[in-house]
Amino acid sequence: MKTEEFHALAAVLEKLTPHQRNILVDRLHKIEHVQAVSTLLESRVSTKPLCPKCGHDHIARWGSASGLQRYRCTACRATFNALTGTPLARLRHKDKWLEYAQQMSEGQSVRNSAKACGVHRNTTFRWRHRFLTLPNEQKANRLVGIAEADETFFLESFKGRKKGMTRAPRHRGCKASKRGLSDEQIPVLICRDRTGSTADFVLEKTDQAHISAALKPLLASDTALCTDSGKALSAAAREIGIIHRPINLAVGIRVVGKVCHVYRT
Ligand SMILES: [Zn+2]
Repeated sequence: MKTEEFHALAAVLEKLTPHQRNILVDRLHKIEHVQAVSTLLESRVSTKPLCPKCGHDHIARWGSASGLQRYRCTACRATFNALTGTPLARLRHKDKWLEYAQQMSEGQSVRNSAKACGVHRNTTFRWRHRFLTLPNEQKANRLVGIAEADETFFLESFKGRKKGMTRAPRHRGCKASKRGLSDEQIPVLICRDRTGSTADFVLEKTDQAHISAALKPLLASDTALCTDSGKALSAAAREIGIIHRPINLAVGIRVVGKVCHVYRT
């Protein structure tokens, strides 16, 4: 906006009725929230985006829509934005997404979070499922509901490189050559809840005291912890005072579903 236009706008602000002022404040908040969400979403687009349709890398900026930068592929002329091809594409009410993500991380039900966000519960129901399918790259500091924990071991060479570590945890059934603590293996405790929040800890020792110290600040007191690992994890759950459910992952993940699968709606 030009400076003169802004001065003219500022001058008429004094004439607003309280009701009009509230409407404007709401509008400003909405714009702010949409911008915060857009900035967050666009930070995920690489500096050299690829066309989601044909994979071409000759991409031009192509205006903006719904607060997001649009791009156009010069090869196939498809237009896209940061959300194209993700579970969040074409979802509305971007200004409420941050609030909803907060509600979800607190473990709020579909109904309560709809109330808090001022949208219909069908909307938060849809959001919940779409948000859950997003890959979760943030390390969680609080897990809720049902959490699963497992110990695994990483080779020494990955130490201190957590960010760049793309290696998946040890596949079940393919044992590490030297299970337990050895020079080249770092014990890691991985814990994940049903919202997809994940936390991992490098353990100095895989005993109950060290596991308790890692899990205590992470797990709410009403969390149910599912593990298939040794005694140390169940002892830690007892010490923290949360429900522990031993599961046998060797039998198959479906057992977990039957025993522990609970969704609050
Ligand atoms: Zn293309």
